[in-house]
Amino acid sequence: MITFTCDRCKKTIDATNEIRFVVSIEVQAAFGTDETIVENEHLEHLTEVLDELDSDEQEEISHQAYEKRSFDLCDSCREQYGRNLLGVETGAALDFSDN
Ligand SMILES: [Zn+2]
Repeated sequence: MITFTCDRCKKTIDATNEIRFVVSIEVQAAFGTDETIVENEHLEHLTEVLDELDSDEQEEISHQAYEKRSFDLCDSCREQYGRNLLGVETGAALDFSDN
């Protein structure tokens, strides 16, 4: 049996019987306002910007400039996550129970 753990509710997901959902979040700094900036130019510009900073600043900025993370979610958490992709607090008490 292949199992995974839901990163949100910590429930064990039995991959042979249940669907596991993988959420990949990619956060990157956007330089310029034009979508015609291709990825290589983007990276070159990022490198130029980083070269002008000292190493502490470089580390901080490069972490902020690009971050990619993946999470495993069970079906129930995928549904709840899908309702609030940006994690914006609605003011109502969040319900983390399994319904
Ligand atoms: Zn879950």
